[in-house]
Amino acid sequence: MLDEGYIKFKAHWRERPPLPEAEIAELNHWRDQMYRAQLIGAYPDGIGFGNISRRYAGRQFIISGSKTGNFAQLDARHYALVSDYNVERNEVFCEGPLLASSESMSHAVVYATCPEVRAVIHVHHLALWEKHLHRLPTTWAAAAYGTPEMAREIIRLLHESTVRREEQVLVMAGHREGLIAFGEDLAGAGERLLALC
Ligand SMILES: [Zn+2]
Repeated sequence: MLDEGYIKFKAHWRERPPLPEAEIAELNHWRDQMYRAQLIGAYPDGIGFGNISRRYAGRQFIISGSKTGNFAQLDARHYALVSDYNVERNEVFCEGPLLASSESMSHAVVYATCPEVRAVIHVHHLALWEKHLHRLPTTWAAAAYGTPEMAREIIRLLHESTVRREEQVLVMAGHREGLIAFGEDLAGAGERLLALC
């Protein structure tokens, strides 16, 4: 089932002006690379897919906004700051000109679990997904996009498999076409994905 784009956590949003361009420059550079590689984009029905984030301060991170996958170019108006989150309560607190990505919780659990991680990229690509499903560390098929089950599955893999130290890419079996890459910087995560293509 394709249900990308619907927020499944309880979102607390404070409307705020955009972050300074300097805060999103590198993030936007890598978002461009992902868009060009068609790893972030939109389906023919206009529903966007894929999202990108970087750690900001402590647990906080800056992420592309909800419903921005269909735009060829983003700027600071398209990014939100996730200021806090609670996995057990399925809550995300964000601020900015628009709501944080509907997949923010998947990013949040990577930052919360791995202090060394400074960048997370979630992409969609059918051929990559089919090629690496169950070959790279893979979440259970029963865990759907954007759910607490998916968040718990990501945490499980980060603790139980080699993904945190080695592959730094995981496949989402219950979220067709979905993969998540992460790393100590955006270039590492981005290049890892491009190398899989
Ligand atoms: Zn997705």
